Amino acid sequence: MKEYITTIGLEVHVQLKTDSKMFCSSSARYFGASPNSHTCPVCLGLPGALPVINQKAIESAIKVGLALNCEINKETKFDRKSYFYPDLPKGYQISQLDKPIAQGGYLEVDGRKIRINRAHMEEDTGKLIHTKVDGKDVSLVDFNRSGVPLMEIVSEPDLNSPEEARAYAKKLHQIMRYLGVADVDMEKAGMRFDANVSIRPKSSKTLGTKVEIKNMNSFSFMEKALVYEVTRQLKALESGEKIIQETRGWVENKGVTVSQRIKETSPDYRYFPEPDLPPLEISDKLIESLRKQTPELPNEKSERFQEDYALSIYDATQITETQGIAEWFEEAVKDYSMVEQEVKEPKHVDSRKAKVIANWVQGELVRLLKDNKHTIKEANVEPAGLVQLLLLIDQGKINQQIAKQVFAKMYSSGKSPSYIIDEEGLTQIDTADELGKILDVIIGENQKAVEDYKKGKEQSFKFLIGQVMRKTKGKANPKIVSAILSEKLK
Ligand SMILES: [Zn+2]
Repeated sequence: MKEYITTIGLEVHVQLKTDSKMFCSSSARYFGASPNSHTCPVCLGLPGALPVINQKAIESAIKVGLALNCEINKETKFDRKSYFYPDLPKGYQISQLDKPIAQGGYLEVDGRKIRINRAHMEEDTGKLIHTKVDGKDVSLVDFNRSGVPLMEIVSEPDLNSPEEARAYAKKLHQIMRYLGVADVDMEKAGMRFDANVSIRPKSSKTLGTKVEIKNMNSFSFMEKALVYEVTRQLKALESGEKIIQETRGWVENKGVTVSQRIKETSPDYRYFPEPDLPPLEISDKLIESLRKQTPELPNEKSERFQEDYALSIYDATQITETQGIAEWFEEAVKDYSMVEQEVKEPKHVDSRKAKVIANWVQGELVRLLKDNKHTIKEANVEPAGLVQLLLLIDQGKINQQIAKQVFAKMYSSGKSPSYIIDEEGLTQIDTADELGKILDVIIGENQKAVEDYKKGKEQSFKFLIGQVMRKTKGKANPKIVSAILSEKLK
């Protein structure tokens, strides 16, 4: 079999988070509302209704453009894209053709720069619901979504595999969250993907015939659809078939893409400038002020964490996954580092302490958030609480195992670690006297293990320590137990 190169370009639609819709004052927070309750003459497309541009949506779009390293067009305008579909009451969608808000940027994904062709604004459509009423098949239309601001981000065909396409989409998703311009809630279709896929033999210089896959609304569906499509095209080329330029749809329950529309030429949308909206001039002042509002983005944050806290790439990437967790981590590291320095700002960060916090955040904290279906903002433990707990470990008051139990209790009760430890009598047993007595009992009860150990079976030693931990419900100081035990077994 010949070697092939996969080429993928993605068009990503993102619903921006605004109070009102893109061109009218109807509420854009429509999710869960009764059908057609968030509408007005503008978003219902009634004759004579006039659109007005939503300033907040434009500002959000500029922020996205800047985060994607794009050039912001000082002069931008809207165009009508005409087509007929029952969820589009005007018979056209207001979009942008030749003067998009942003163009010519890139997004760095796992060290590779994926070029962004353009990012433009448009309006979302209504939604068709195919259902049964009185036993009859009907199609209903809900215009609550009609006119919600939508941003379309178009990449160059720089993605070389379905996995890379997924990583790119996830990075975009993460940036939208960091910028706070979109909820990108996948369950509410806040982010949707269209992909162009082609493959060509490695020896060929020209791109293969591209196939478009429409309307995928989850990362995993997109990846699965792309894997299916690449394999389908490979098989076709290998058996001498020709790839047809067409639009295909992903059928999730069958795990296949199916042909929806063969296109010989690109559809004619009869674009022309929207006569009801003036071209927009975007001032340098506005761009600069929005640039200043841009937070530190995930890639930069991850690099800084590797630098400042000596975290591995893996740890830094995990912890900067969401802005909230990254901030929680930093606050904890700062608190923990300050303890011995007795200053308001730590003079230096102890990388050992940063690593300890990184482990707790990725392990216990993330697990508790998941179990409770909480976001970090809803977490029941403050960074200072974790630091108090860590100090108790450092002082030898509790061991690591008990600390994990205490942390879970802090999370569920909101109580301080010292309170929980006192209340439940969890203080570590570390007096040689007391541990020696317990060990005598354990040795007496486990003569066989003692014999085995003396015959050279190393595991028996661990077994005996395990018995002590069990008897003390995990409260024994394992280091001291181990020292006394080797003494006793000599
Ligand atoms: Zn409206």
